[in-house]
Amino acid sequence: MILILFGAPGCGKGTQALRLVEERGLVQLSSGEMLRSAIAVGSELGLRAKEIMDRGDLMSDDIIVGMVAERLDAPECANGVILDGFPRTVAQAKALDKMLCARGIGIDHVIEIKVDEASLFARIENRAAESGGARSDDNADTLRNRLAVYHENTAPLLPYYEAQGLLRSVDGMASVEGVASRVAEVVG
Ligand code: ADP
Repeated sequence: MILILFGAPGCGKGTQALRLVEERGLVQLSSGEMLRSAIAVGSELGLRAKEIMDRGDLMSDDIIVGMVAERLDAPECANGVILDGFPRTVAQAKALDKMLCARGIGIDHVIEIKVDEASLFARIENRAAESGGARSDDNADTLRNRLAVYHENTAPLLPYYEAQGLLRSVDGMASVEGVASRVAEVVG
């Protein structure tokens, strides 16, 4: 099973992905987490990523696509994966289609978690406070840019997947439980 969790920064993709990992044994592939690990180990990729992520901009499609492709072939992914934060551009979505096609598989569902944008600032502020500022991109200035980048580069994926009949939307303003049960309905 290939699931894509889709939505604006702070919409709850990571939270729902974790539930799916625990409940269904799927593997979560989060491009943001992969980049944060690269930053944590201080690799060359990490150094480059830090600057871009702190601004709220996107890493280059080639780097991200290569990074995800490598992980997709890991044996633990054979059961199915949840893509969280990837694809984020139409170019990434096209690269993903090619990648999956070459492996003879396809996307099962693209689940959009819809949230009211004003609430995202409060959520991100909350996350920053709870984590003791663990993510340096969790602040109002960077979030404003992350949202602008989301609208410009990522939102065009909605019609892309709608046209393929893959898009399912859930109300991300519901409780974590509420969202999880709608996601469960979609996944079946
Ligand atoms: P968010 O909470 O915004 O969904 P993520 O943890 O998914 O955060 O990503 C954090 C940052 O990592 C992004 O703002 C971007 O700089 C970089 N990033 C993550 N995934 C991608 C991707 N698919 N393409 C390009 N950049 C990415």
